[in-house]
Amino acid sequence: MTTLPEVKLYIGGEYVDATSGQTFDNVNPATGEVICKVQIASDADVNRAIEAAKQAQKAWAKTTGAERGRILNRAVALIRERNQELSELEVLDTGKPLQEAVVADAASGADCIEYFAGAAALLKGDHYDLGGSFAYTRREPLGVCAGIGAWNYPIQIACWKSGPALACGNAMVYKPSEMTPLTAMKLAEIYTEAGLPAGLFNVVNGYGPVGAALSTHPDVDKVSLTGSVPTGKKVLQGASETLKHVTLELGGKSPLIVFADADLDNAVSAAMLANFYTQGEICSNGTRVFVEESVHNQFIEKLVSRTEKMKIGDPMDMETHVGSLISEDHMNKVLGYIEAGKKAGAQIATGGNRYTANGCDKGFYVEPTVFTQCGDEMDIVREEIFGPVMSVLTFKTEEEAVRRANDTDFGLAAGVFTKDIMRGHRVVAELEAGTCWINNYNLTPIEMPFGGYKHSGIGRENSQAAIEHYTQLKSVYVEMGDVDAPY
Ligand code: NDP
Repeated sequence: MTTLPEVKLYIGGEYVDATSGQTFDNVNPATGEVICKVQIASDADVNRAIEAAKQAQKAWAKTTGAERGRILNRAVALIRERNQELSELEVLDTGKPLQEAVVADAASGADCIEYFAGAAALLKGDHYDLGGSFAYTRREPLGVCAGIGAWNYPIQIACWKSGPALACGNAMVYKPSEMTPLTAMKLAEIYTEAGLPAGLFNVVNGYGPVGAALSTHPDVDKVSLTGSVPTGKKVLQGASETLKHVTLELGGKSPLIVFADADLDNAVSAAMLANFYTQGEICSNGTRVFVEESVHNQFIEKLVSRTEKMKIGDPMDMETHVGSLISEDHMNKVLGYIEAGKKAGAQIATGGNRYTANGCDKGFYVEPTVFTQCGDEMDIVREEIFGPVMSVLTFKTEEEAVRRANDTDFGLAAGVFTKDIMRGHRVVAELEAGTCWINNYNLTPIEMPFGGYKHSGIGRENSQAAIEHYTQLKSVYVEMGDVDAPY
């Protein structure tokens, strides 16, 4: 059993006690045991963090991009050096397998900060020749940005938000999900150790009201949320009072379309990654797998046989493929969807149960589950489950596959498997989704913009596109002659 010291808040470059006097328990979902207590930020603490950010940001905005990049690159080196420690903390908090965490979580966070550290020195405006007079633009920071994170990729999300924010000359107040506060605190320590001036990255812990306080605060200029669609709507509404910039990375129910000519082994690999990586708790997962009818049986045979070989168990064991879901409530929600799928007439090809063998009885494990005989109208096909539950559907024509794939309010991601390059590009062009893959799934390299269409979000993270969302453009007209006035 691992017990850690009580988690405080991180404000002005140091740990501080919350003034609320309240705490909550942080639970290891793999064992159900309390890892530590976490202090809850009061409104006064949130105000204090925002004030610290506001003060620090003024000087930070005046540094050169190269200076900011140098500090951020030192943080990158520290994250990479401490990858093992950060990964283990992430596993304690999330229940995800360590074999994933050591390659995907802090590592992708470091890649992100490194990318924006490099981009900082390249920030620039444009010059417009106006025939004598001229105009230019300045790309300026927004000021104080609030980041609000989900629990599935805690340190990655904290880096995806703070990396571009800081590189562009902003300060950030970050609220991790209350279920996974540990690694954001470590990130704050690392930034300080790397030489980031105090107040530029602050962490306030707590439940939804702490996020709401940030997204409505008059001194916050931008809010970036990764979370569910209902929370996204609340954040957008809260931010509207003070017309903040808003980036929303929300949920999805993404389609993965497998044509008969596809390399089926690769398609099965992708479908498994798109549904069972991190126990299926990934926003962009391809949970509606549309398989062309003629290869359906072959696809299911390969899929079931490989899924049944996945090792469920202690997430700290490097051999484990499937860890614990985030909480008992969430496990019950996922199991509820599985029951609803059975009742609606879908067939379980494999999985379908809570997993309690091999010492997993105290944690919140669910077997990787594949449903066949699914209908488009079923809840398991329409709603985001956020667990290891794949719905396989069949189709006959390309037109039908595209129409049914688009028949959802979500639009985060989509995938297509085919060897026909014309079809691959044609289908992707028709799909209503912000992030698409041809012949792969769920890869999110930092160079590529990431974000959703429709109810899956607003704005983009990663790549040059994120720079647009953490800066504002000032246009400056410069008169080189006389003022031409008719009076
Ligand atoms: P939630 O929407 O429940 O929570 C997200 C964050 O918002 C948490 O920190 C939460 O705090 C906070 N929050 C809750 N209420 C409010 C409020 N009224 N105002 C401001 N902040 C608030 O999502 P989950 O944490 O359950 O994460 C799962 C969801 O996130 C899924 O829908 C998933 O698809 C989505 N997601 C999207 C990603 C993307 O990039 N598009 C990536 C990862 C996940 P607290 O936890 O304390 O309640």
